[in-house]
Amino acid sequence: MSRPLIFAANWKMHHGPAAARDFAERFLPLAPPVDGRTLWFFVPDVTITAAAEAFAGRPDVGIGAQNVHWEGKGAYTGEISIPLAEEAGASAILIGHSERRHLFGETEEQTGRKLTATLAAGLTPLLCVGETMAEREGGRTESIVLRQLAGALDPIDADRLEPLVIAYEPVWAIGTGRNATPDDAVQVHRLIRMDLLRRGVRADVPVLYGGSVNSRNAVELLARREIDGLLVGGASLEPEGWAEIVRTPRSE
Ligand code: PEP
Repeated sequence: MSRPLIFAANWKMHHGPAAARDFAERFLPLAPPVDGRTLWFFVPDVTITAAAEAFAGRPDVGIGAQNVHWEGKGAYTGEISIPLAEEAGASAILIGHSERRHLFGETEEQTGRKLTATLAAGLTPLLCVGETMAEREGGRTESIVLRQLAGALDPIDADRLEPLVIAYEPVWAIGTGRNATPDDAVQVHRLIRMDLLRRGVRADVPVLYGGSVNSRNAVELLARREIDGLLVGGASLEPEGWAEIVRTPRSE
């Protein structure tokens, strides 16, 4: 069996419960389980239960929330806690997506708290890091990615980072149709891997790539052994297109 791969769909603010049920009905026959491949759907909170039910027969599929509060409960109007997300059917949490950081002002400290709380609850965190175009052009890609990793990982002992998954998502590639080249992605993936090793985190933490992935560029991205899977927004919204991506052959 080749290295395990993770295919994570980020539905953002799309697909309510009915649309999720319809999606599953069309998607499942097109994407039978494949050894070593795990699929995640990060869905809107109102869709978590319907999606968990619709994919219940598929142990290779997990449902996740796109954002959570770090407190278990309390007076936080409009927020969702990890226990609430879990009760609804989520087993994974997306943390520090660039839209949370850049549109909603989420700080690295908050990202760190969310990661700590997700791990404490025993759910799988998918931590996103990535630089803006201005940061890349200013030669600051490495320092930004390392700073984001530090913000999230510094407060946590390496041996408590067990189910961690990381996604490198350059902000300039998200929803723009402009993806990083496999070489660009691999360079940052190696940096992330080195940082994890320096921290003493286990060597097989999956590092995914995200940013304008489609069924064409998925082939060349997955051909690189440093890339352990894909995090996909726009191209995960149609069942036929997403099924094609999760079936991408890995040529190693
Ligand atoms: C994302 O939202 O994480 C993402 C990568 O979006 P897109 O695939 O649309 O660029």
